[in-house]
Amino acid sequence: MNPKPTSGYGLRLPADYHTHTALCKHATGAPAEFRQAAATAGLAAICFTDHCPEPSGYDARHRMSLAQYPDYLDLVQPLQDGEAPVVLLGLEADFFPGTEPFLREWLPRQPLDLVLGSVHYIRDWGFDNPDYLKMWESVDVKGVWREYFSLVSAAVDLRLFDIIAHFDLPKKFGHRLRDNVMTEMVQPVLDRIAGAGMALEINTSGWRRDVAEAYPSPLILSLACERNIPITFGSDAHVPGEVGHEFAKAVRLAREVGYSESLQYRKRQPSRSPLPRD
Ligand SMILES: [Zn+2]
Ligand SMILES: [Zn+2]
Repeated sequence: MNPKPTSGYGLRLPADYHTHTALCKHATGAPAEFRQAAATAGLAAICFTDHCPEPSGYDARHRMSLAQYPDYLDLVQPLQDGEAPVVLLGLEADFFPGTEPFLREWLPRQPLDLVLGSVHYIRDWGFDNPDYLKMWESVDVKGVWREYFSLVSAAVDLRLFDIIAHFDLPKKFGHRLRDNVMTEMVQPVLDRIAGAGMALEINTSGWRRDVAEAYPSPLILSLACERNIPITFGSDAHVPGEVGHEFAKAVRLAREVGYSESLQYRKRQPSRSPLPRD
């Protein structure tokens, strides 16, 4: 029996477009091991998306320095040998106010296949970092979400990223909003993403956290689907064993809310690919 190819690469599950390397200082394993894990999981492709260098010294504990960027290319590019699964080169570009001049000047010149845009900080608070979890006790949760989404909106408006990563990250430790509040808050941001022609990532790492739910939530994903915002899949793997984590479940979730396709990227050019069926 010849199963019909279900992705652009003829493999079963979509590409993993969110993985890290040891250069971010909190991931372990060689890129070749990540690729092997992608092969074992039956993924179409894997993209390395380590945290973008930031010459200002912003959050230096979680990223490569600009001087280490050639080391990143040396880690990933030798794996781009045409063998399956395909290996792509990307970055997770963390947005914060002040980084715009650097990103505008530097990012478009890099030989990347895709760029994730993400927000991890509200002012100087790493709100998704377990080390600063206590801070959540003294903040207005709704105000945090509002501030977070205004940063995401600013990231979208930069028009420098292809995909918004882990869109509802502030829920990581369980700080959720009621559905009606979330719907009201999130719709203008989704409209902006749709207007910018960007994609949303289904990030499966939420299934490994307290919140026990992928990013974004099924509610947000269905609002995104209504707006025809395309999707990609990312495990946010920091060890090889996390590559493709719960991708079959993520594909089911995408189908349940109405998606039938995801995007694949080459040299920052997206193309559509049908989602596999169970
Ligand atoms: Zn991230
Ligand atoms: Zn990440």
